[in-house]
Order: sequence, then C-alpha cells, then structure tokens
Amino acid sequence: MDIDSIRARCSSGISVDEGWRPLLITLDAALTEADPELRYLTISQKYGRLSVILTSDTNEEARQLIRDAEEAALKTCEMCGDNTATLCQRGSWLRTLCPSCAAEQKYVVKT
Ligand SMILES: [Zn+2]
Repeated sequence: MDIDSIRARCSSGISVDEGWRPLLITLDAALTEADPELRYLTISQKYGRLSVILTSDTNEEARQLIRDAEEAALKTCEMCGDNTATLCQRGSWLRTLCPSCAAEQKYVVKT
C-alpha cells in the first residue's frame, strides 16, 4: 500500500504534506480491514488539522480508526512526520508543525 493506491480511491484527491502520509497509509490498511467497501471523498488539511471525509457512512470501527488518526495527526508534523508538533500559525494560516519546521516556515505556535 502506498499513497497512490489511496489516491485512486479518493474522489477529490489528497492534499496533505509528506509528514502525514505514513499515518494515512497505516490508517488505510486498518480501514480496508474494517470496511472493504469504504471510499474516500477527500483527505485534506483543514484549519491545520487532518480531515478524512468518506463518500458514505461507515461502521463504528472505521469511524473510530479515523478519529484516532485525526488525533495522532494533532502531534505529527505535517512536513517531516516528527511527533513533537503542535498547531502553529502564520497570519491566518494554520498548520501542525514541529518546532524546526515551524521556524523554517516562519510559523509560530498558536496561542
Ligand atoms: Zn517537522
């Protein structure tokens, strides 16, 4: 499983950076077990957070897996995957970044 195989089952595409991709690959493997019929509508970064939207409703197990992944993403740097990330901002832009990516991108920790 790789990101392209997820993209093939995602109608509106995937718009998240490299750092969250391993998380999506792990999530997808678990979701395929929980609900083989499942299709993604969109996987994106929304207000700095991971958002996984499906084309139709699914079972409780799959919903829980998605919630867990969205929660894990709160601490995972969207750029490098480091697990020291927090919600950061630059003007009105929000991203979940580790301290070094935040500094590089001129983001500051959101207060
Ligand atoms: Zn980082």
